[in-house]
Amino acid sequence: MAGDTVQQIKERLNIQDIVSSYVKLRRAGRSLVGLCPFHKEKTPSFHVSPERGTWHCFGCGLGGDGFSFIEKIEGVDFKGALKILAEKAGVTIEYSGSSRERSSRTERLREVMSRACEWYAGKLAGSPAEAYAKRRGLTDETISAWRLGFAPEAWRALLEALTAEGFTVSEMLAAGLIKEADGKQGTYYDRFRNRLMFPICDSAGRVVAFTGRTLEAGDQKDGVQTAKYLNSPETELYHKSEILFSIDKARNAIRTRGFTCLVEGQMDVLHAHQAGFENAVALSGTALSERHLSLMKRFSENLMLILDADTAGLKATARSAELALRHGLRVKAVKLPLGKDPADFISEDVKDFSLRIKNAKPIVEFFLAELGEKERDPHRLVRAAKESVLPLINAMSSPMEREHVIQVTARSLGLSHESVREELKRMPKLFDVSDRTTTVQGTVTPPARSPAETRREQLLAILHTYPNTPLAERVRSGYCRITEAGQLSPQTLPESALFLAEQAFGDNPGEEAADELLRAFEEAVIREAYQESIIHLRRAEAAGDAVEIIHVQARCASLSARLAALGR
Ligand SMILES: [Zn+2]
Repeated sequence: MAGDTVQQIKERLNIQDIVSSYVKLRRAGRSLVGLCPFHKEKTPSFHVSPERGTWHCFGCGLGGDGFSFIEKIEGVDFKGALKILAEKAGVTIEYSGSSRERSSRTERLREVMSRACEWYAGKLAGSPAEAYAKRRGLTDETISAWRLGFAPEAWRALLEALTAEGFTVSEMLAAGLIKEADGKQGTYYDRFRNRLMFPICDSAGRVVAFTGRTLEAGDQKDGVQTAKYLNSPETELYHKSEILFSIDKARNAIRTRGFTCLVEGQMDVLHAHQAGFENAVALSGTALSERHLSLMKRFSENLMLILDADTAGLKATARSAELALRHGLRVKAVKLPLGKDPADFISEDVKDFSLRIKNAKPIVEFFLAELGEKERDPHRLVRAAKESVLPLINAMSSPMEREHVIQVTARSLGLSHESVREELKRMPKLFDVSDRTTTVQGTVTPPARSPAETRREQLLAILHTYPNTPLAERVRSGYCRITEAGQLSPQTLPESALFLAEQAFGDNPGEEAADELLRAFEEAVIREAYQESIIHLRRAEAAGDAVEIIHVQARCASLSARLAALGR
């Protein structure tokens, strides 16, 4: 049953294991903190408690356990999260009834993609695709790690194979594996034919699409130009503006190396990994998007753009870099030497490639150097820099970094800092995207609470977080004295209160750590009681109840005396 599976998963996987494949975490007292993957932020407000197996973000208010984390980040339901975590934990899910019946539509699409991937891979041995891959210098390990495959030169080979396995035409169509013939309704054929197949996976390593590299000699077939690279269409599983090719394999290296290497093509990624640059990823047939950047930012804030020598104009690069800077990433760029295929260069000249990466220039310096090489005329150089460099500076939010690049730019163009600054002032002030979506969907606005209520919750959180300590004992007796209660009734606390307590009191708080909080609580309790008494007093006065008036006045006086005693 699923219940046992959940238990087994919880025993085998701790919350750090689950979260840290998506978020870079560092220890902060009892909890771990990192940048929230669910809203854009520059300072970490995402907390994970290894002890309780929970997470909470103070920025957007989301929180929960390992399962809800996977549901949110992978966009799956509980069952989907169960499947992902079971796989990670090496636990077999036992469903009652046939799993095929239970599979939702999305699950079916995942299945058909995964089967197609196996099928293509099974056709690779001895195929022209394998010959091509090897000719391009890919090793057997790389070929099998990326599950490269071969789409044979046949019209319906995959269609027939998957049909035999019980998949329907509509499922294959929805997955983008087959196409309907033009002008022949009801006739379907394989989308990928005679191609080397690269599976494209999501960050959890599940196949969501393919890229097929043509194997036609001279990229021509019957005199018709065929696309060199063919991608799956956008499907329910595949949104190309959200997918980074190889992020599933690169994310650990991105974290450990501290930067993402963005290369231009899929072949470049494979060669980079093969050469030891396991932090390389690529886009798949689309421009760099905000979603890509958010995905990268989960693992590192540094981005290295690896550009082909013949990169079609620097304009596109400038646009990508500007977007990345606006997202708060630090960007550097490296250009590969002319006349060499980047993939070949990376694997053949590993030393040279690492040297280039090591000496990579920050993006503004990179552009200044590029422009300086191309443009000898100083006037035109300044104009070109105004067009491509100033927007980059404008996109930087850190005042220190801005100041630095303003100096560099002025020096490089032979201008004064003032004139660069003046020019920048004239540029439209950019909206800071990093802060734009601080309030995201699903944001929880806590109901307004009184100061006494808030402090009461904090005290209870301390009891919960540091049980059986002198601190807890002191808080308990103080609380009972202040509230004049005989004992504390147990209650459920919001996760945020527990995280706040850990944050505020750290690993090993002393007995007196909460004294100030107790005093503040007492003050708030008395002030509230005083406010109430005043209302009573007004009522008694209005009613002309002399006895009650004296009674309430006495209470007010006693409360004031207590407040005075507190020194407030
Ligand atoms: Zn958040």
